[in-house]
Amino acid sequence: MKEFDDSVDLRSIQQYLYCPHRFGLMENNCSWAENVFVNRGNLAHERVTEGKYSASRGTIQERSVRVFQDEWGLFGVLDCLELKKDKNGVEIPIYSGKYTVSIVEYKVTAPKNNQIRIEDRMQLLGQKICVDSLFSCHADTYFYYHDTRRREKIEFSEEDYSFLKQTLTEIREIKQKGIIPPIRNDQYCSGCSMKDICLPPKRSQR
Ligand code: SF4
Repeated sequence: MKEFDDSVDLRSIQQYLYCPHRFGLMENNCSWAENVFVNRGNLAHERVTEGKYSASRGTIQERSVRVFQDEWGLFGVLDCLELKKDKNGVEIPIYSGKYTVSIVEYKVTAPKNNQIRIEDRMQLLGQKICVDSLFSCHADTYFYYHDTRRREKIEFSEEDYSFLKQTLTEIREIKQKGIIPPIRNDQYCSGCSMKDICLPPKRSQR
């Protein structure tokens, strides 16, 4: 019998927290649909991750960086890993020197009223857990908003780590049991690419 693979893709964190029902459809029903928001996001990501590497004045940017962390069972791809020369930073042998490490996750639009969505925060925390482990560092974490050309630093608390741990348990349960969770009462559906697959017409007007 095939063993259950309990590793979790960083993207799944974002997808599950956005809508558990949608995640279940994608994971266990092989459903997928794109819409203008998905395509806009993909295009923005393609643009920013063009060119794997750049370096200027002591700062190196690696794009589309693959990462993992075994104890948390996480893997995935970062938009951008930024290394700044710093004698107090961590040794990065491949670039022979010491650097401070930052993760930059690109988003198409800045959140309204500065309310960063939990799914985006938790995806970024998953990235940080991978990078901190791989480089033995405490990476800084940022969102970069394409529409405002602004970068925002994000901090995480112990509660965030606990919440992510619980989220990963829920994701694994859905994958292992092949569950499609019910639609949440307070689910926000605006912009979801899978409305036509999952909702009766009345609710899809939301
Ligand atoms: S339409 Fe709403 S309930 Fe259905 S998958 Fe999308 S976000 Fe979830």
